[in-house]
Amino acid sequence: MSKHTLFLTAALACLPAFAQTTAPESPEFTQCIAGLQGAARSAGVSTATYERLTQDLAPDMSVIEKLNFQPEFRTAIWDYLAGLVDEERVQEGQALLARHADTLQRVEQRFGVDPATVVAVWGVESNFGQTFGKYPLMQALGTLSCFGRRQAYFRGELFAAMRILQKGDIAPERLVGSWAGAFGHTQFMPSTFERLAVDFDGDGRADLMDNATDALASTANFLAKAGWRTGQAWGVEVKLPEGFNTSGEGRRSKRAISEWNARGLKQVDGSALPADAGSAGLLTPAGATGPAFLVFRNFDALYSYNAAESYGLAIAHLSDRLRGGGPFVTPWPTDDPGISRAERRELQGLLILRGHDIGEVDGMLGERSRAAIRVEQQKLGQEVNGRGGLKLLKSLRSGG
Ligand code: CA
Repeated sequence: MSKHTLFLTAALACLPAFAQTTAPESPEFTQCIAGLQGAARSAGVSTATYERLTQDLAPDMSVIEKLNFQPEFRTAIWDYLAGLVDEERVQEGQALLARHADTLQRVEQRFGVDPATVVAVWGVESNFGQTFGKYPLMQALGTLSCFGRRQAYFRGELFAAMRILQKGDIAPERLVGSWAGAFGHTQFMPSTFERLAVDFDGDGRADLMDNATDALASTANFLAKAGWRTGQAWGVEVKLPEGFNTSGEGRRSKRAISEWNARGLKQVDGSALPADAGSAGLLTPAGATGPAFLVFRNFDALYSYNAAESYGLAIAHLSDRLRGGGPFVTPWPTDDPGISRAERRELQGLLILRGHDIGEVDGMLGERSRAAIRVEQQKLGQEVNGRGGLKLLKSLRSGG
């Protein structure tokens, strides 16, 4: 188990299992939870388990706010990737590849997924087991089961979480995760845990909260079941011929490599496309003038982890960086590139020096940081959009 995991375990142990003391009374919620007991029993949750896990359970309406949240702006792909695939994450990932080399080798033998890919998923999902989310799952899923959209879906996840606790894979007070119920090193939803979690160290429990060995194997199992092809790349960065028409192309518009060859595509270093890749789709996440990629079957497996192409690309790119690859060759089409987490922390420090109360320096650029950024952008005569990019960082560095 990693140092970070131990630290996190200690930090989370201080949290109450259920925040019933701070949450308001809600007769509507109590009635709803009582009304779900029959369905829970049909779903395999015993009366004793149900009563134990829902006793004194109170709603947390902040998860409904999260469910209904509409972002004020869309994060640009270059900002998204700059935070997820930075030097810090590459170095940490490489250290963990070395530390877990034996486990990762056994995982590869059993599931056919290579170490760099598994560790890249780990790095993007939970920052290698350092960011699990802070919502007690019974409370979050209980609330989502009784209020807001998609109650039927969340009830299924609530009952799955209850079955996990009933089986004893994870202790109830440790089942803490995202507002939507994803938890642990792999950020699996409870139903995904039930389908795919693996007890790889053989202690009788599949533990994705406190056991990195189980988590790495479970990630590989997920990708294997999602159709991972052993030994194949996820894709390659390519160079498009001048004036290439990208309309209608995409991850799902697969064409044979021979067809892409005929249309004049090359790898970005000028070499020929890999002949053994099967069919490939063309991904241009920032349009035809930005980086372009041919993506193969394994990219679809990465995509299925979170159903977002930007997410799949983050994992794919991080895995290449962990193998020693460099940044993308084609620059993003912007004169104001995204910044790493180290630079975001530096930016936050500079905002504090200018008297802004932005809370903790965490490299996250949340609401308070963005409000402070707007003020500084206004003063500097820059576009006021609350975005922390290289232009603003450079201005604040130089005392602008
Ligand atoms: Ca285990």
